[in-house]
Amino acid sequence: MTKAWNYGAGPSMLPPEVMAQAQKEFCDFNNLGIGIVEMSHRSAEYMAVAQEAEALLREIMNIPEDYAVLFEQGGGRGQFAAVPLNLLPEDGHADYFVTGHWSRCAYKECAERYGKAILHECTAKNEQGQIYIDYSSMQVTPGSSYAYVCLNETVNGIEMFELPDTGEVPLIADMSSDILTSPIDVRRFGAIIFGAQKNVAPAGLTVTIVRRDLVGKARKYCPSVLDWSVLSSYDSMYNTPNTFAWYMAGLAFKWIKRIGGVSALEQRNIAKSRLLYGYMEQEPFYQLPIAPECRSRVNCVFTLKDESLNAEFLKQAAAERLIGLKGHKVLGGMRASIYNAMPLEGVEVLKDFLTRFAKAHS
Ligand SMILES: *Cc1c(COP(=O)(O)O)cnc(C)c1O
Repeated sequence: MTKAWNYGAGPSMLPPEVMAQAQKEFCDFNNLGIGIVEMSHRSAEYMAVAQEAEALLREIMNIPEDYAVLFEQGGGRGQFAAVPLNLLPEDGHADYFVTGHWSRCAYKECAERYGKAILHECTAKNEQGQIYIDYSSMQVTPGSSYAYVCLNETVNGIEMFELPDTGEVPLIADMSSDILTSPIDVRRFGAIIFGAQKNVAPAGLTVTIVRRDLVGKARKYCPSVLDWSVLSSYDSMYNTPNTFAWYMAGLAFKWIKRIGGVSALEQRNIAKSRLLYGYMEQEPFYQLPIAPECRSRVNCVFTLKDESLNAEFLKQAAAERLIGLKGHKVLGGMRASIYNAMPLEGVEVLKDFLTRFAKAHS
């Protein structure tokens, strides 16, 4: 098998060490004679795995004790419903600061099904026609139940490096694609939600980190499996969790701790994204739609100046086993996702390909 470089946005590349360890333990976990996916989620052995994963996440993110950490299913989109069902009273309202595809989806889920969502369009274009985040438009309305942001818009390649000041209004953040890519102060948030498949584990695991005083306000008809207080009182084992993804998340957290924690990863992510954007900035063959100060460090979105070369670009890339470079279907263009697991080497390989392709077609 020749190695492929996987720049897919999610499910995406996981650290090779994590994949190898999971392979080793898949059929026989800890000499128990059964594999990790064959164990009861309530067995002492599995409970230890689950608890260790939570403890590791708390450690590497520095999550305070007054925040609950919930391991769930239903994905990011499940949480788009869970957020209003848990936090928005029937007669209340919430602010949605929209910066791209996923925050707009979250806004729609709330507005079309659960209650009054106030839409704030928070991007604008600069003189070069590049999209930037207009933080001054992130103003909460009085009496709001929460303000919602997506810190890294996976599809658009736009990332928030500042947080709005929402005063007493809890800030709820979707961090599905930037979780653990740079240190954050959990205390700035009422809740953080993320699907694991972008940066942590296989698909099918969603994590909610929520300040405990915000738990217990769910609507009566909120499905039990989305009710944060039910999940919290059952230690995320109200229903059978995705035992495999939870276990793999634990391996990923251990890997992060071993290589120096989230700040070490941040330095790597800065170096990787600079290499890629730095090259494309000085090569007019490629265009960058996002303004420099809010370019995502993990989802590098770009287009070819001559879009008629798109198919050829992807074909050539695939021939060299560089996969997952096609942009999201709603946007087109190209996207290279270079999450925590992607080493600098993978970005150098991509830069080399981009350079050769540009030379051959200019
Ligand atoms: C992928 C993604 C989602 C959607 O996640 P699902 O698990 O497919 O529901 C939501 N938000 C962000 C930021 C994402 O990257």
